[in-house]
Amino acid sequence: MVYDLAEGSAEMKPLLGGKGAGVAEMIRVGVPVPDGFTVTTQACVAAMQDGGRWPDGLWTEIEAHLDAFEERTGRRLGAARRPLLVSVRSGAVVSMPGMMDTILNLGISEESVVGLAEESGNPRFAWDCYRRFLQMYGEVVEGVPAHAFSDEIAALKNRRGITEDTGLTVDDLTELVATFRTVARHHTGEELPTDPREQLRRAVQAVFSSWDTPRAGVYRRANGIPDDLGTAVNVMQMVFGNRGDTSATGVCFTRDPSTGAKELYGEFLVNAQGEDVVAGIRTPRPLAEMEQVLPDAYRELLDTMDRLEHHYGDMQDIEFTVDDGKLYLLQTRTGKRTAAAALKVARDLVAEGVIDRETALLRIEPAQLDQLLHPGLDPDHGTSPLTRGLNASPGAGVGQVVFDADTAAERGEAGEAVVLVRWETTPDDIHGVIAAQGVLTSHGGMTSHAAVVARGMGRPCVAGAGDLRIDVEARTLTIGQTALTEGDTITIDGSTGEVFAGALDLVPPQITDDFTEVLGWADEVRRLGVRANADTGADAAKARELGAEGIGLCRTEHMFMDADRLPVVQAMILAEKPDERAAALDRLLPMQQADFTELFTAMSGLPVTIRLIDPPLHEFLPDLVEQSLLVQRLEDAGTGGAELEDARTLLAHVKRLSEANPMLGTRGVRLALLFPEIAQMQVRAIARAARAVRADGLDPRVEIMVPLVGFAEELRRMRDVVETTWAEEVGADGGDLPHTVGTMIELPRAALVADAIAEHADFFSFGTNDLTQTTVGISRDDAEGSFLHTYVDAGIVPANPFASVDVDGVGELVRIGVRKGRSTTPGLKTGVCGEHGGDPASIALFHEIGLDYVSCSPYRVPVARLAAAQVALGSR
Ligand code: PEP
Ligand code: MG
Repeated sequence: MVYDLAEGSAEMKPLLGGKGAGVAEMIRVGVPVPDGFTVTTQACVAAMQDGGRWPDGLWTEIEAHLDAFEERTGRRLGAARRPLLVSVRSGAVVSMPGMMDTILNLGISEESVVGLAEESGNPRFAWDCYRRFLQMYGEVVEGVPAHAFSDEIAALKNRRGITEDTGLTVDDLTELVATFRTVARHHTGEELPTDPREQLRRAVQAVFSSWDTPRAGVYRRANGIPDDLGTAVNVMQMVFGNRGDTSATGVCFTRDPSTGAKELYGEFLVNAQGEDVVAGIRTPRPLAEMEQVLPDAYRELLDTMDRLEHHYGDMQDIEFTVDDGKLYLLQTRTGKRTAAAALKVARDLVAEGVIDRETALLRIEPAQLDQLLHPGLDPDHGTSPLTRGLNASPGAGVGQVVFDADTAAERGEAGEAVVLVRWETTPDDIHGVIAAQGVLTSHGGMTSHAAVVARGMGRPCVAGAGDLRIDVEARTLTIGQTALTEGDTITIDGSTGEVFAGALDLVPPQITDDFTEVLGWADEVRRLGVRANADTGADAAKARELGAEGIGLCRTEHMFMDADRLPVVQAMILAEKPDERAAALDRLLPMQQADFTELFTAMSGLPVTIRLIDPPLHEFLPDLVEQSLLVQRLEDAGTGGAELEDARTLLAHVKRLSEANPMLGTRGVRLALLFPEIAQMQVRAIARAARAVRADGLDPRVEIMVPLVGFAEELRRMRDVVETTWAEEVGADGGDLPHTVGTMIELPRAALVADAIAEHADFFSFGTNDLTQTTVGISRDDAEGSFLHTYVDAGIVPANPFASVDVDGVGELVRIGVRKGRSTTPGLKTGVCGEHGGDPASIALFHEIGLDYVSCSPYRVPVARLAAAQVALGSR
């Protein structure tokens, strides 16, 4: 349950956590790190599963390691001479920035503070350590509110007439220590323990408990981290960055985590502890300036950074301290980076010969690519900024100013665009960051909490914009002469650090050479094809630019929703006589033909799957309640005549077409069999568009798809309608325009009788949206807004089955469908066109089942390309 740091290694990460394993590995590489030990994640899991009760023998084991630790360093916790001071930090397997709490200077006490003062020759430093310890320990372990301590510091500084903490004298700090003890007693009802070993025991327990805090839970859910990994506890000897001007502390990255460029990136503070840098309380200095102040440590740091990057073959995020001129590394981990940086680092490391392409591909988080496709500001916007801060996370965000995370979460979840504006963010703000379009802070640097979290989540962030005057009480933000109140709109540009009043126009993202090259490698290794779901020429063109190899689903009904088409569609639906309907369809045909012409043109040479009309007809008519109210209002107002008559007729139609379960009703192939003339019109439009495009010298590849088939006979009849119409169109000029006819598989029955259905199909496309709805019996249009949330949060289902495929249920049906389909039609082409086609976890399953392609929305095409490559590499 406990390991000395020197006993560990990088491979032991699941047991020692990222931080513990990282430090252990550094020792193996010969990098200078402080001594210490790690309590394992397993010990945490065991304790948390037993209601917080520690596994037998854990404390004994910790004490044994502590004894040996004291032996090695020749120091003792709490000793009056040569005291041992330690830090206690959590370290999960997956990095969870700022989620867990750190305690520094544990081991300082009434006795050892004197020893530390003597040893360092610096009583102020010793007492400052002591007050910092009480503050952190009181807050993190004993639950005293943070402000209770900071209020006392502020009050004391006020009394002394000073503004900086550094102005506090030894006497002031001694007084603060006594005050802090009183404050803690006041809040907890008892004295703080004075025995450092007891404090250590409680600190370890606090780390265990921090795994189960709500904010940690929110972070884990947002990042798909399992709840049962647990966190390790790292106990390490303190080294001091606040021992005076020969000491410093800082953080650095081996490359720029925003752009990926190989250049110096980091910050440091002279005479400070790590917390000062991370929490953004003092604004740190750029790392380059360290060369002047601490030249030897600086050179050793650069050298160590290089060694670590080579050792891990990846960009590192490093925390260091210089203790009286001597460099120590406290932590190294894989650096979180933007998607743009991820691609650049991957490409550069391959070019530098540090890693191979396959390793590089496996390193990039597919879901993150989505970020790249976020819009930025139009470079020629010509607006001058209100102010400028640090460009902490790229991309632009437009939204209403809000001043706290709860409001951001509330409004963001209600679909409003908000920008979270804070002095600085803390881990408690995480839900607000998730729901916001961007984050703006007045404090903190490039490695502050807001910056790190925003980069990880792909949210734009401008940090440390010092001109902001935020008044949270009054809900106002003043920037120079501009006064804004909550709800006013601003635009932030995380790529430049600029802040603007109002909403600036955003432009689509640019595809870089890094993107093209790295995704090109992905294309070489993946087996799954990647297509896009697109309904317009513009979407199709965008999809092709992003690497789509065709259209896997065109939802033709979307073409009916257009303002000038809807009346024609309604006329078609409301037609009383066949010739009236035929006339409406005649008007629709050229419109559809124009749509298809655009699609075939944009996708020339690549397959285009066009699905015949799917939704129930009432979706094209007004809502039943609204229409009833309209009739009522007209009646009440005494409006008679044609207007009332028309409203009543429409209401009658709406009533006639309304169904209790429309998603299980008259839709898909059922509708097309009832009104074959609609499908015939669509097939004619497809054939004519294809002929016209071909006449222009292009290469249309037509695939016609029938939705919601459950019975083989449905497809047999529908195919008949399609083929007959096709022959009428294409046969006319004797041309043989190739085309195929296939079906969606989106009902459990269809999957189960896929062998019979396949006899009439050239291809299957699994509609996993409907297939999920009909398999799990959960309404896709209702559940996401109601109980499904709770189901996911409570762990009743592992994930939202409409976002990530239900492997055991829906996945099994897809497997059966493919196997049975291919049993009667060898070489049957199979794909997926539900939302799951763009979800990396689902893509892994579809690869394994052996589908031919996935189809997803255009902006997810790059995600799918990379995810498909990763699963192909993994299964090698
Ligand atoms: C599906 O059901 O998965 C599908 C792609 O069709 P739609 O979402 O249009 O019902
Ligand atoms: Mg469907």
